[in-house]
Amino acid sequence: MHELSLCRSIYAITARAAGTRRVTQVSLDVGQLRQVIPETLVRCWAVVTAATPLAGAALTVNHIPARAVCEDCGARSALGPGLTFACGACGGRGLRIETGEEFLVRSIDVADGPPP
Ligand SMILES: [Zn+2]
Repeated sequence: MHELSLCRSIYAITARAAGTRRVTQVSLDVGQLRQVIPETLVRCWAVVTAATPLAGAALTVNHIPARAVCEDCGARSALGPGLTFACGACGGRGLRIETGEEFLVRSIDVADGPPP
């Protein structure tokens, strides 16, 4: 379950950015191609932050759909749930991924006052 190690990384980034401020919410961008299950990520986040200064901080996951551009005809297409790597317009296989590989901390919301 790599969600746990991802949460440890998010924790390290968030703790460093927040310093002594209390964190209320962390927002992530997670691309469809990342093979991350958002519900699992949120559950792991609760485990990783329990009994730490970040306990109670909500984790929100913004799902970024996978999109690709065809290098043969230039058509842009969404990669469906089956993730077929062929152009929807010409059937070409020279697809360049534009979005869907994101995994980043988009924003961290902090409140006034020290952590509880
Ligand atoms: Zn094409």
